[in-house]
Amino acid sequence: MPRYHPIEPAQLEWDDTTPQSREHGDIYFSRDGGVEETHHVFLNSNDLPQRWQQRDSFTIAETGFGTGLNFLCAVDLWLKTAPRDARLHFVSVEKHPLTHHDLQRALSSWPQFNAISTQLIDVYPPLVFGLHRRELFDGRITLTLLFGDATEILSELHAGIDAWFLDGFAPSKNPQMWSEALFKQITRLTKTGGTFATFTAAGIVRRGLKEAGFTVETVPGFGRKRDMLRGKLAHKSPAKSKQPWFEYPAVNVTEKRAIVIGGGLAGTTVSHSLARRGWHVTLIERHEELAQEASGNHSGVILPRLTADMGCDGQFYLSAFLHTVQWLNELKKRDETLPWFASGVLQLEDEKRMAQLQRLSLPKEIVEFCDTARTSELSGITVESGGLFFPMAGWAEPPALCRWLSGDQRNNINTIMHQEALRLERVNGEWQAFNTEGNVITAAPVAIVANGYDAERLLGNDTMTLQKVRGQIAYTPATPQSSQLKTPICYDGYLIPAHKGLHCTGATYDVNNESTEIKKEDQTQIIKALRDTLPAFDAQSPSGGRTAFRTSTQDHLPIIGPAPDLDFYREHYHDLHHGKPAHRYPVAQYQPNLFVTTGHGSRGLVTCPMAANIIAAALNGETLPLPSDLLDGVHPARLMVRNLKRKP
Ligand code: SAM
Repeated sequence: MPRYHPIEPAQLEWDDTTPQSREHGDIYFSRDGGVEETHHVFLNSNDLPQRWQQRDSFTIAETGFGTGLNFLCAVDLWLKTAPRDARLHFVSVEKHPLTHHDLQRALSSWPQFNAISTQLIDVYPPLVFGLHRRELFDGRITLTLLFGDATEILSELHAGIDAWFLDGFAPSKNPQMWSEALFKQITRLTKTGGTFATFTAAGIVRRGLKEAGFTVETVPGFGRKRDMLRGKLAHKSPAKSKQPWFEYPAVNVTEKRAIVIGGGLAGTTVSHSLARRGWHVTLIERHEELAQEASGNHSGVILPRLTADMGCDGQFYLSAFLHTVQWLNELKKRDETLPWFASGVLQLEDEKRMAQLQRLSLPKEIVEFCDTARTSELSGITVESGGLFFPMAGWAEPPALCRWLSGDQRNNINTIMHQEALRLERVNGEWQAFNTEGNVITAAPVAIVANGYDAERLLGNDTMTLQKVRGQIAYTPATPQSSQLKTPICYDGYLIPAHKGLHCTGATYDVNNESTEIKKEDQTQIIKALRDTLPAFDAQSPSGGRTAFRTSTQDHLPIIGPAPDLDFYREHYHDLHHGKPAHRYPVAQYQPNLFVTTGHGSRGLVTCPMAANIIAAALNGETLPLPSDLLDGVHPARLMVRNLKRKP
């Protein structure tokens, strides 16, 4: 797994509007005409746009995003020539991304692409290691930016590439990138029949790609370059999997119809994600309204959960957070009534932990380290300790968000309320959902289980070790003084700015307690924690509260992905503890077209949109929106595999 590390932005030297890399002493695009060069080298030499004419999706990958010029040219051509409802996926890896400022400066050279560059600048991610997926032009274009070293980060990518733009500085000036290991990854990720094109004709590249399985052709280069290379992967031998038990299935659906079970955040986000891609979804909810259980709180905070080592959990939560806020911001542009408030969030921390997190060198757009004066200034009330401020973070109203999501796609989402799906059965290539009376509620080729704790029963899978954790929150009436609070504040509880006259504050964390009542002692405990932490805040006695049960997991990560075929796992992976090489094991098998999203704990607002995106991408054969080590970390079979690896 590539280790998380801070990303160093590109160090540029500008020759008027043309940037040059200080590190490599090489240019980003030809001085003889950058746009013409891209057309000649990358688009024409990959036979574009001819190859995407009959396709409903097409995937390009690039080494070296740089200024994004190749991206602009490809998108421009796609918008002019591809079918209206087809999607272009553009994946690009970049070790030293341009800062926002430099990107803007570079893109200003091409006013003809203004419509595209404005959107690109708008969605360009903060410079954080890992994978960032963005949608442009209402979903017609998906951009996946991978910030990190090409070979390292491509080894964690799950994608099927149709055409490669092999950019990156000249092999003589950047020999580290053009390696055998990179060529191997390129082959692994390319579909049979996929192609590449590159500006260079260097022997090391020609030989390397040939050895990796491509046919390679030398053709006339652009401008002063005599030659360049292009080629094709005509045959492909199956790649060895590093962890066959976590390999995602190749989904083959001819009809875009799905059942989603559960009308909370997990279910409504996945329904929305599928419906946006043209799927017809039937959403089944046992209550009379959406979001009546864990997603029913009046307001909830959206912030990342950083860890000092930024291992799997820290990286997952940061990626999910970045995805969610970006997604909500985009939705809010379409409808300003969306119940999402990008106020920033303050998290009070002690100095030791702040010092640990400071070592992550995250950009200021993600986190600011604050003293007491600054925490008070940002929150609008007197705060007596320092902490972290997450400027992109905020809060939302989960039930209203669930309703908004199903309403936004009402043509494609049919909600069936007040019906409990108790059993799923596969009959003639469809999943049938049965209700409490044993009658079929509905049927579809694909099913997604998103019903919290009950997912175990519905899937007949007790290996996920889901836990029900009781949580109580209190609602306190807002006063003129308390309404000064501008941002949520998190401590060992949390307090949210006034919404509809109430502050939401919480929460208790109670394992092995099934009580649904609102307990007086819990209310007292919540208010005491609030008053102890923020004595200057005008905390009124609660006027109400709410109790719900979060679904949590042993390792505090959600469960997202395809539902394993447990018999297959037991039969084929029972001796994992012997430590045989991974390639001796067969690739995992799953229950056909059955996916799960659950175990989101108290962080569903952060993690459900990412889960929805993973599942929808897998069902549509798209590049998956997380690197595989993080997908493995939330895989539905991970706990089972962990147990099988342990000596009996
Ligand atoms: N395609 C770009 C465009 O349209 O502006 C130009 C790319 S520029 C010639 C080369 C890019 O490759 C630089 O942005 C550089 O930082 C990136 N690069 C170089 N070595 C890399 C590596 N090992 N991994 C990822 N990116 C790398």
